Amino acid sequence: MPEIKRPVQTIEVNYVCDKCGYGMMKKVSEMDSNTGDIMHECMICGHPQIFQWRSYPRINYIGLDESIDESTDTSDDR
Ligand SMILES: [Zn+2]
Repeated sequence: MPEIKRPVQTIEVNYVCDKCGYGMMKKVSEMDSNTGDIMHECMICGHPQIFQWRSYPRINYIGLDESIDESTDTSDDR
C-alpha cells in the first residue's frame, strides 16, 4: 500500500462542568482498564465526574474539509 498524506487541523475537545457551567473538566486519574472509567474534576468547583473510555481535554485531528461539530463525538482515546 502506498502512503497517503493529507493536511489536517487540530481540535482540542473540552467538557464544560455540568455543575457550575464554567470550569473545564480535567482528568485526575488513569483509566481503569476493566471498566474504562476515568475520573475527572472540574478545575473551578472541583465537581467530580467519571467518563468512560474518554478523557478531557483531548486532542482530535480532523480533515480540513470536516467540520468541528462532526468530530466531537467520534474518537475515543484508547
Ligand atoms: Zn464546576
